[in-house]
Amino acid sequence: MDVIVIGAGIIGSSIAWHVAEMGATVGVVDQYGAGARRGSSHGATRGLRYSYEDPAYARLAMEAETWWRVTERRSGQRLLRMTGGVDIGVVGSPSFDATVQTVADLALEHRLIGGSDLACEFPWISVPDGYSGLVQTGAGLLDADTALSTIRALAGDAGATFQWETAVERVRRDDAGWELDIGRADAPIRAHRVALAAGPWTSGLIERSPDLSLPVLPPIAVLQCEPIYVELARPLDATPLFYIHPDAEYADGLYVQPQPGTRDAGTRDAGTRDAGTRLLKIGRHGGAGHLDPTNPLPGPIEDHGPMVDRLAQFVPAVEGGRVRGFDTCFYSTTPDDGFIIDSIGGGLFLAAGFSGHGFKFAPVIGRAAAELLLEGETAYEVDGMTLSRFAV
Ligand SMILES: Cc1cc2nc3c(=O)[nH]c(=O)nc-3n(C[C@H](O)[C@H](O)[C@H](O)COP(=O)(O)OP(=O)(O)OC[C@H]3O[C@@H](n4cnc5c(N)ncnc54)[C@H](O)[C@@H]3O)c2cc1C
Repeated sequence: MDVIVIGAGIIGSSIAWHVAEMGATVGVVDQYGAGARRGSSHGATRGLRYSYEDPAYARLAMEAETWWRVTERRSGQRLLRMTGGVDIGVVGSPSFDATVQTVADLALEHRLIGGSDLACEFPWISVPDGYSGLVQTGAGLLDADTALSTIRALAGDAGATFQWETAVERVRRDDAGWELDIGRADAPIRAHRVALAAGPWTSGLIERSPDLSLPVLPPIAVLQCEPIYVELARPLDATPLFYIHPDAEYADGLYVQPQPGTRDAGTRDAGTRDAGTRLLKIGRHGGAGHLDPTNPLPGPIEDHGPMVDRLAQFVPAVEGGRVRGFDTCFYSTTPDDGFIIDSIGGGLFLAAGFSGHGFKFAPVIGRAAAELLLEGETAYEVDGMTLSRFAV
């Protein structure tokens, strides 16, 4: 086999799809079954937005949107709905200012409007003094569960094979290439190249596999996260996804995603209107602890009150809402919140540390990874994402 991918989350599955499309033989192993709701890639929605502080990520998000459209065309599945997006923040706060600057520098379609104008456009928003809104049409929601199964199906159609419920205990290297120790001597898995896409399990596998001999250990903090679902007492009209930037009052960013089937069909896609948004997914960009992804803590792991209170400052309708449930999911966070996408040498590839914002990029990262694995270079802008940036 040319390439073996460890991990069938959205990243590993996307790498396998592109490697197979480019004509190489590829297998994927995952410790769980295809329907497992573990790790980072399961759930109803993931946001796609271009509003990044770092222009490289904004540009990559646009490339990713193009690849999601390719994914939709190839599969016939609707995966992405452009809802538009609003970043809310205080002008003068670092993350909001840097985002506005990037969007302006890249000449992305946007409007920066003050709180009262924002409230005119979205009557259910109430913006405290000092806050502004960065409004963009370039944002939308991915149907995460369908996106994952679709990419796996495309990988399979292109010739990739998936081996489920196969935990890799250790990765070994010899003169002939790589061998995965899966605890069964009768069934060694061998390949010329190996791509590690093990999400929050990455550091553990590296620690158990001295043959990987990385120049520096990936500094990945594993955080258990708990986005909640709030059912609103009355529906909201024309709901974009939005992100409330951190500031002196609240240290974490807060993302809010209208849930499908309960919302307006969108600002960019001419579409049907339904009865408005009744269910919001709300999450803190961050999580609790440095925890073991194999044994998540039973939730709720935190008091959701402060998060709801923060949101209620901007969306008063949340106050009368009911928390209907929560997801348990893991972030693999690096110190700079950036990804690790790197050809290490000797046929080893690392795709990890997606820091709670990697889903939207999956098909373009898969493409870049496949090009790096098979051709040694890529035109996609992932050169700032190497592991070596963490070497002291
Ligand atoms: C609550 C939450 C909200 C998010 N919201 C957004 C968003 O709005 N927009 C966005 O772009 N991103 C978002 N993200 C981030 C995004 O979902 C992740 O970056 C992405 O899913 C990471 O995928 P992955 O494939 O790297 O990891 P995973 O999905 O965790 O996949 C890793 C896979 O590797 C397998 N594996 C690990 N070790 C082994 C082993 N030893 N042997 C065999 N198999 C192994 C695991 O079983 C797992 O299936 C969010 C994440 C969370 C948790």
